[in-house]
Amino acid sequence: MKVKILVDREKCYLCGSCVAVCPKEAIITESEEWKFFPERCIGCKFCVLACPVGALVAKEVE
Ligand code: SF4
Ligand code: SF4
Repeated sequence: MKVKILVDREKCYLCGSCVAVCPKEAIITESEEWKFFPERCIGCKFCVLACPVGALVAKEVE
């Protein structure tokens, strides 16, 4: 199942935990901004589990 990872920018404080656990480098936190690269994501949801403030959700896409 392909997923899109969505961030709640009000909650995210750019700690980098999601970046650290992503096996595909599909998330970066750079220039004070959280960025997602859907073409790299394999839908493991490690990032969602790793976020200490629950800022990420995985939305299933076609
Ligand atoms: S679901 Fe997995 S591959 Fe996709 S961004 Fe999160 S940790 Fe990376
Ligand atoms: S783990 Fe959560 S708070 Fe930390 S950078 Fe990722 S989305 Fe933001």
